[in-house]
Amino acid sequence: MKCLMFEEIGKLSPSTIADPTSPVWIRVEATGICGTDLKSVYVGHRYFQPPTVLGHEFYGQIEKAPEGYPLKKGTWVVAAPYYECGKCATCKAGKGDLCADKKYVEAGSFAEFVGVPLDYLDGLFVLPEKKDSKDYDVYALTEPLACVINGTSRLETIKGYSKVLIVGGGPMGALFGLYYNSKGIDCAIVEPNAERAARLRSWGISTVSQEDVKKGEYDNIVIAVNISALVSQYLPLVRQGGTLLVFSGLPKGEMLQIDAGAVHYSEVSIKGCSGFALEHFKEAFETIKANERSFRQLITNKFSFEHGQEAFDMLKAGKAFKILLGSTL
Ligand SMILES: [Zn+2]
Ligand SMILES: [Zn+2]
Repeated sequence: MKCLMFEEIGKLSPSTIADPTSPVWIRVEATGICGTDLKSVYVGHRYFQPPTVLGHEFYGQIEKAPEGYPLKKGTWVVAAPYYECGKCATCKAGKGDLCADKKYVEAGSFAEFVGVPLDYLDGLFVLPEKKDSKDYDVYALTEPLACVINGTSRLETIKGYSKVLIVGGGPMGALFGLYYNSKGIDCAIVEPNAERAARLRSWGISTVSQEDVKKGEYDNIVIAVNISALVSQYLPLVRQGGTLLVFSGLPKGEMLQIDAGAVHYSEVSIKGCSGFALEHFKEAFETIKANERSFRQLITNKFSFEHGQEAFDMLKAGKAFKILLGSTL
């Protein structure tokens, strides 16, 4: 089958690999490029060493399934790239995102097909009826939104009281903005790049400049940029009793400098999160279903695997927002 191969650091090329070996195949219609994919290609990632096929934000149609399988060939689905076992002590405690015994799809989605195990049905979500397959594109955002919803589940937000500040207006920051807008929670994003900030505002997301963020104005602050100094900088600004969420990945072993008074006297909590649990994926799916038009705006470009390198280079240069790839585009 066709794929976009991550050949070596900085280099991707259209290629072919062996077909999936799992009993159920999904034909990938489109698949999003995520910050993790970008980091893997240009910086390197310990879990995703080249040569390999990346990608995990995808939707498509059931291509192949054994007789008696509940989903027929041609059914449109979005798949969670993994989900928790649901049986271990961690899962029973409601912390599925931390389960050490997750199930996974067979391989990366920058490919024509992705295989899934027979017992993977809880991770597949049937898309609503559409006339045009392009109208399904927005569902490629389900996985990144699931990660964002995992983040929002750490924050207490009270309508009429809460104000959420998102530091960083990349695709994840924008998803936070659209999510809170859909819930009627006051929210603003700090994004120093003027062009990006204007784009966020055109989607109905409020922006604020860093200098205008007043101490105590926001009870929840989300760090959606992978710069640890921002944690130290924003912690003292959180309203008393509020929370600072370390959302973007920071290097293991890196030490954070924090204002002790903010944590003790102002009762500010620091929380972190990574990935998602199945309940977050479900909520992301429902949220997108109810707000398709709003979320679709984030997808700025679509490319075939032949133009995969160009797509990655564009993202690296900050010239696109969310890009989808597909073998048939
Ligand atoms: Zn992702
Ligand atoms: Zn588990």
